[in-house]
This record gives sequence, structure tokens and C-alpha cells, in this order.
Amino acid sequence: MIHALTIDVEDYHNIFARDRLKREGPPTDAVVRNTQRLLSLFDEFGARGTFFVLGEVARDYPKLIREIASAGHELGIHGFYHRQVFKLTPEDFRREVCDARTIVEDIVGVPVHGHRAPAFSIMPATRWGLEVLADAGFRYDSSVFPISGRRYGWPDFRSDIHIMELPGGRRIVEAPLSTVSVLGRRLPACGGGYLRHFPGGVTRWAMRKVGHERPAILYMHPYEIEQDDAPLDLARLSPAEARAVTRFHRLQLRNRRTVEPKLRALLAEFRFAPMRDIVESALGIRLADFAGSESNLRRSAV
Ligand SMILES: [Zn+2]
Repeated sequence: MIHALTIDVEDYHNIFARDRLKREGPPTDAVVRNTQRLLSLFDEFGARGTFFVLGEVARDYPKLIREIASAGHELGIHGFYHRQVFKLTPEDFRREVCDARTIVEDIVGVPVHGHRAPAFSIMPATRWGLEVLADAGFRYDSSVFPISGRRYGWPDFRSDIHIMELPGGRRIVEAPLSTVSVLGRRLPACGGGYLRHFPGGVTRWAMRKVGHERPAILYMHPYEIEQDDAPLDLARLSPAEARAVTRFHRLQLRNRRTVEPKLRALLAEFRFAPMRDIVESALGIRLADFAGSESNLRRSAV
């Protein structure tokens, strides 16, 4: 079984400042450093994956995007400013993903097929996002977490990679994030905070368990292997806000030191490929051909 290796390329520092401190700023070069560390780690193990990148990262660090592509990885889109889909109108969502895709395609010179929403924010309330993506020509999405989560999730969503027939007549491939059933509950276990905070054996167990039925989708962020404790500028916050963001920041930094060894163990045990390849072999399609049927549908839907 070959699994999907997926990286959401964003800068912790500017997203943290935007979401938690309400301060706008460009991505810092930490995203470059950390992504390059991942690239050399993946290269060491001969693993290839999909890097879903933010438009603002591609805009500010085009050389990094070229490095990812020339190392043999697939590029996808992770929004422009990491705004969750529910914070956007359909028009703004479309503009963000299309602007990001234009920047990435201009840099690498090959079509971008895939999308992952910031914070897995394709949910029942934002299912219109799939229509927007299909209409904009994206071939696959990998944003749905089929769980009932506090911040995200689409309970009862199918667990396998499948083609969704959308109400407007369009179609898109959805590759939902991996879950494992424990005592009748579907839990996420193949990446992100779960990789960071759980012992490494938990993720390896979850990947094996998922792998009995289908490819697992491992996801992570470059900043998870960064070990620098970035100073926080709390100047314009109330004392209560400052305490809350400091607490959140500490939780985010916790166990980062454990991520690289855990990742090495995963790369040594499992075989990984870009999401594009995983989707194509799971469904027996070519994503480029899938676009043809979709644009026919689009024309008939107008
Ligand atoms: Zn993200």
C-alpha cells in the first residue's frame, strides 16, 4: 500500500499573528527554512508528496516553490491568506484559490489540480466551496475530515477517495483525511497535532490500520519541525488576551522536538506518493482527463 504524503505550507508566525493577535504581516522566511528541512528529509528517504501552498507564500518565496517542484513533488493550493472557507463569500473564496493557483502555475509551469482548505474548513455549512472549486477547474479536494470535531469536521462523510456528484451538476474528487475507529468513534490520527502530541507508535498504528483498507493521508506543516521559540509581541493586547495567546503559543510549541524522529520512523516504514498519484490509482482515472468531463458538465450547467 502506498500512502499520500501531504504538507500544508504556511508560516506559523504570520498566521499566528493574524488569527490570534489580529495583526497582518507577510510570511516570514521560517517557512522557507522549515520547508527546505522537510525537502531534504523526504529526499533522504526517496519519498514524494504534495505541498499545498498558500498564495502569499508562493508570492513572497517563488524560489521555494521551484525547489519543491524540481524535487519531484506535486503542488496544490491551500488558500491565499489561510482564511477558513466559512469566513469568505463564494466570490472571495474563488478569487483566493484562483489567484494562488495562477501564481503557483506561473512559477512551475504545470497545471495545479488539487486543493486543501485552511483548517479543513470544507464542512456541511461550506459545501458550496466544492462547487466553487469544481467550477474553477480544480480536479480534487482534500479538505474534509469525516469526524464530528469541535472546530471542523463533516460527520458521516465517506472515508474513501471518491468522485462527488455536486448538486449543480459538477463533479470533483474528494480525498478525505484519514480517520481510525476507536470504540465506535471516528478519530483523526494521521498527522498535525496528533503526530506532535501522541507517541510516534500511535501514528504508525493508525497508518497501518487505515492501510488495511485504503491509502492513508498523512498531513503536516513545515513549522512543526521548527524548534525555535519565537518571541511574541503582546503589546496591543489586553492582559487576558495576552494570557490566552501565550497559552495557545506554548501548546503549539510543545513536543515539536519529537516530530522529526517520528517522521523519520514513518518515512522508514511506509511508502509515500503525491496525492495526485494516490487519487489516480484509487479511482483508475487520469486527472487531466477528468477535467474534460468536468468542463463539459460546466458548459451544460451554465
Ligand atoms: Zn493550514
